[in-house]
Amino acid sequence: MTSRRSFLKTAGAMTAGVAAAATATTATAAVKYDGAARHYKGPHEMPTKMTLLSMKNADGTETLGVKTADGVIDVRRASKLLRIVAPLTLEQLLREGSAGELNKLVASVQSSSRATAVMVDESSITHGRLFTNPGKIICIGLNYRAHAAEANEKVPSVPILFNKYNNALAAHNCTIKLPPREVSYKFDYETEMLIVMGKAARDVSEADALKYVAGYCTSQDFSARDLQLETPAGQWMVGKTLDGFGPIGPYFVSADIIGDPGNLKIETYVNGEVRQSSNTSKMIFNSQKLIAYISKMWTLEPGDIIWSGTPEGVILGMPKEKQVWLKAGDEIRSSIEKLGDLKFKLA
Ligand code: MG
Repeated sequence: MTSRRSFLKTAGAMTAGVAAAATATTATAAVKYDGAARHYKGPHEMPTKMTLLSMKNADGTETLGVKTADGVIDVRRASKLLRIVAPLTLEQLLREGSAGELNKLVASVQSSSRATAVMVDESSITHGRLFTNPGKIICIGLNYRAHAAEANEKVPSVPILFNKYNNALAAHNCTIKLPPREVSYKFDYETEMLIVMGKAARDVSEADALKYVAGYCTSQDFSARDLQLETPAGQWMVGKTLDGFGPIGPYFVSADIIGDPGNLKIETYVNGEVRQSSNTSKMIFNSQKLIAYISKMWTLEPGDIIWSGTPEGVILGMPKEKQVWLKAGDEIRSSIEKLGDLKFKLA
């Protein structure tokens, strides 16, 4: 039975809730510069000439930063200060295709006398996740010949697809909290180029495939080999998507800056020691082939991301007596030419 006291309390809370909602609605209607829900109606444009990052703010939100020669533009702060609507996250930008708005904001900041108020020194940034809730997270297994060989696997005749979930997504400079030993202990690195989709792609040709790509990032397909390969029959997906097992960053670099994604140096360092050193030209299925193949199976949407496979040099590929699995305290750096160095620690 509802007592009078609890009824009054509930009614009071409801009134307060309604009032708060009304205030929020009014604020949204009046000012959209805070990235509140909206319906973008402009043309669908992918970002160009852009190096973007994610900033973790004091209020816990993760919002967009634009890297420029003069520092990083804090997009949320700039949007409010200059009263220019702009997408506040990379995912919003990609899904809406609202790059035009971001271009306007950047141009206004660069010509404004108040620009310094929205510029941040990159070294002071706590990086947030570039992606928090992509529509699809697709991964490619065994996509470099020398890696397939070191893993004692056949060279695949079609791309091997598997997935991660968004619990795996993590930021540049993150710390991956390893699970207890009884769950898993054979931890391994896999530096990979991440392909970021910018337009809906269904059954596209290899010749057209790159027109659907918004950009690329450095990423890690961090792996637990015991879960992936040794649990009764090996559960590939389980070994790949524990919490935080998918760091991405520090940057999203627009596709026009990269040009050919099939000729980039790709490396991994563990505690400063080089472990992987190859080139994306060594992929069995290049970015074009991957997109053409996947888009035959399902529609790729703006904001979908593809881990494109790792080269040789992983711990799994070493002779058994030389395998020293990663452990708490290790520091990993993944480096891809033109895309930047992704760093993270293990704990
Ligand atoms: Mg991989």
